[in-house]
Amino acid sequence: KTIRNLFKYGESRNEMRLKHKDGHYIWFEHKGKKFVDIDGTAKAIIISRDITERKKAENIQLEEYKKLEEISQIKSELIMKASHELKTPLNSVYAASQLLLRNFKKEFGENELNFLEIIYRGSQKLRLLIDNLLDISKLESNELKLDLKDENLVELIKDCVNDLKLRADKKKLNIKVNLPEKCILYIDRIRLEQVIINLLSNAIKYTPSAGTIFINLNDKKENIELSVKDTGIGITNKEKGQLFKKFGKFNRINQYSDISTEGAGLGLYISKEIVELHKGKIIVQSQGRNRGSTFFNPFT
Ligand code: ADP
Repeated sequence: KTIRNLFKYGESRNEMRLKHKDGHYIWFEHKGKKFVDIDGTAKAIIISRDITERKKAENIQLEEYKKLEEISQIKSELIMKASHELKTPLNSVYAASQLLLRNFKKEFGENELNFLEIIYRGSQKLRLLIDNLLDISKLESNELKLDLKDENLVELIKDCVNDLKLRADKKKLNIKVNLPEKCILYIDRIRLEQVIINLLSNAIKYTPSAGTIFINLNDKKENIELSVKDTGIGITNKEKGQLFKKFGKFNRINQYSDISTEGAGLGLYISKEIVELHKGKIIVQSQGRNRGSTFFNPFT
């Protein structure tokens, strides 16, 4: 085979296992090259060498890789199971504190109300974290399936803005929306809503008070581009490399008094995966610290 291939393609490489006369097996590699001799005849030079040690090392590497895959699988299952188990009692804490705050507010004094708020907000954050961990497990085991339908992206964006309006108002942030009348896309509504909410809440979180957030939807000929731009603290080139990674949060603690440091750094990782499942992309642009950020999402 080595000789046939080298005359056909000019050179060739082959590996084979041979049985030694004392019964054990050894691996050989043959490398051959065609050349033309002075008399014009085509000849071949073949070098054979014992690669048994290399093969052994490769096999060990393969075994180790398989073990790592198994460990990673066990880790994903553990996260998935633990998150499911945590979710039910946590939902009870969340729902009960929400009910008390909504329906029994008058029956509590200021102190008790403060504690109730702490319980409610804490359980809200934990629910988000658990949902994110469950999403990551699904993504890693390819179990996150999209439920695709024709949806009006414009309505979806408007709903997301309405959901977060209160949070933006609290920080006196101005949200400027520039949308066409209608934009029908074949998408998973719930998953894309998750992406837009993540981008928008990041823009709110990382923009100091009185800043502006711009949401644009451009129906270009070659694609549809959704962008979320802010006038916030911006992203440096070094930070850009970490942004879309799992737990890709960076600490800018105490640098900005009105910038929240909450979050585990999972949102953008999940958003990127969801957008890519839709055959789209997430691109970030920022001129650097305190020069705002723009997240583009082109969908073809
Ligand atoms: P987190 O829950 O920490 O916000 P994300 O995955 O959504 O997680 O974001 C990862 C990191 O990217 C954040 O910790 C933040 O430092 C940075 N980041 C995200 N969006 C912006 C933005 N609009 N402006 C500045 N930094 C941002």
